[in-house]
This record gives sequence, structure tokens and C-alpha cells, in this order.
Amino acid sequence: MSRITFEEGVELYKNADLFDLQQKAVALRNTKNPASEVTYVIDTNPNYTNACEADCLFCAFYRKPDDDEVYVKTLEEVRQFMLDAKKLNATTVLLQGGLHPDLPLSYYTDIIKMTTEEFPEIVPHFFSAPEIQNIAEVCGMTDKEVLQEFYNAGQRSLPGGGAEILSQKVRNRISPKKQKVAKWLSIHEDAHEVGMRSTATMMYGHREEAEDVIEHLEVIRQIQDRTGGFTAFVPWSYKKDNTLLGKKVTRQTTAKDYYRMLAMSRIYLDNFNHIQASWFSEGKDVGIQSLSYGADDFGGTLFEENVHAETGHINKTSVEGVKQMIREGGFEPIQRDTFYERVVKA
Ligand code: SF4
Repeated sequence: MSRITFEEGVELYKNADLFDLQQKAVALRNTKNPASEVTYVIDTNPNYTNACEADCLFCAFYRKPDDDEVYVKTLEEVRQFMLDAKKLNATTVLLQGGLHPDLPLSYYTDIIKMTTEEFPEIVPHFFSAPEIQNIAEVCGMTDKEVLQEFYNAGQRSLPGGGAEILSQKVRNRISPKKQKVAKWLSIHEDAHEVGMRSTATMMYGHREEAEDVIEHLEVIRQIQDRTGGFTAFVPWSYKKDNTLLGKKVTRQTTAKDYYRMLAMSRIYLDNFNHIQASWFSEGKDVGIQSLSYGADDFGGTLFEENVHAETGHINKTSVEGVKQMIREGGFEPIQRDTFYERVVKA
């Protein structure tokens, strides 16, 4: 199948029969990944601070820097996160925070060094693109200099958070003070250039239209053509409870919207090997069904998660639970690492 254009993408996303999309997506998935297998990772998502001044309308997680509920974890407390993760056999820790107004560069590099030196079994998947921009601004550095310092400290993987919808029109509506589209993209391209891999994400189901969704897929497809640095694409639906944006958004996304998004991602992102479905963000039943819409990965165990939890969206499972859901979907579960390589047990 030849690459589809932006216009064709919009038409498919708006009007294609879901069954037809599914057939195309599954056929493409099976050219890139073993048809009978679905991968998963053992991971956890702690946070080092909830301080932030970006005021994103969809966010229930942050607190203003002078709020009584603000926290900043010490190096010792972050070490404890890693010890807990190690006990649970996690191979990936996704550490993120709000955009703290004055932590020094050493705060971040000390965390990376401590993790890589004391926990070689854990891959640090730390600090999303908006955090990189914020750290650069606070420390008077360029984004690429910050990424290079993080690389030198041992970091090799950057999470794809903060993408939401990569259409400036939508971002102006939902997070006007947050990072611009061009900056999110340039930071990921910089990360790939210094030698890191990264993921690309999308949060849909709020103020976007079909054209915005396809614009998002188009701009990350262009970067992937240039760098090949994205490991996977991870879409999820917006959770509106406890958020200011939730008062304005009347639509409610459905399971079929999610299946359509996964299938569309697989078809449009012809240069991505991995499309991730999620038991966590969409619920277990929808997660299991979604594996039949072109995804080849089921995300992680997410032992700790606080961002969605602040919207009241809480989902828990275990390694066995994840494996069981993959089996219920009709696939063999295969453990992978942060870089989508199989974990070979000694
Ligand atoms: S989404 Fe991130 S940048 Fe936006 S307010 Fe929440 S913590 Fe801050």
C-alpha cells in the first residue's frame, strides 16, 4: 500500500467504515510485527514534582508553585522510587513532573546518574519535551544542550508526553501557555540527534477536529522520515473529570473512536514499527478489544500513575494481569524493554 496523503487521511478518518480500516491496519501491523504476539513492558510512572505554572486546561495534576500541596522529591526519595521499581522487576521508569520554576540542572542530572549507576536494570525514560524546554529556560541553556547533558549522564530515552494535539490551533484553546507545536517537534528531533530514542503520543477527544488529528500524524511522520528516532506512537483519550476543560467539552469519546484512532495511526504512520494500545487509559475490556485494530504493543504495568489518577481515572493490574489480558485478546504476551527489544530471561 502506498503512503496516504493528508487529504486521504482526513477522508479515511472521517468517513471510512471501521471494519475496512481495521482490515487494512491489521494487514500492515502483521508486515512489521509477528501476527500472533503482543508486547508489554514492566514499568511505573512516578512524579518528582507537581509544581507548574502552565495552567493547561485539561490538567488535574499540577499545583501552583506556592500551593500548600506542592511537592518536590529529593534525590533520596527518587532513589526510593527506583528501589520500589526494582523490587517489582520494572525495566522502565517514566519520571515526569510539572514545569518547576527554579530547580538547577544538577537536580535532573543527579537523578539520571543515580539511576544509571545504581539501577542498571532500569532504563530512565525521563522528562517530556515541555520539561526539557522549561529546564533550558530556567538554566539559560539551549534545549539541545540540556538533552546532551542528560545523554552524558546516561539517559537514552525521552517520553512523548506533552504532545496532546500537535495543531497550534487546538493548543491555543486547551493549553495556551504551554509549549508550541514547533518546539515539541524540534526537541524530539534534537533528542534523536544526540542519540536518544523517544515516543510520540496523542491525547484526543476534546477540542480537535479530524484535520487536527491528521496534522498531528503528519508532523510526526515527517520527523520519523528524517530521524527514525521514534520507537512507538501512543494515543489515548482525554479524561475530563476535575479539569477546567472538562466543563467546556460536551463530547464523550467511545470505544469505537479509540479503535478508529489506533487503526488510523497504523495506516498513516507507515514509518513507525510500533503502535501502542492501552488497558490503562481506555479500560481493560476496550484495551483487550483494541489489540485487534492494528496495535502490536499493550503498554506497561504502570504500577504507579498520578496524572490520570487526579481526574479520578484509576486502573490497576499486575504483570500477570497484563499477560492475561493479552491472551484474552488472542495473542501471546512478550515482555519488551523501553526500546521495544525482547527481554531475554537469563
Ligand atoms: S499538563 Fe504538564 S505542563 Fe500542563 S499544567 Fe499539567 S503539569 Fe503543567
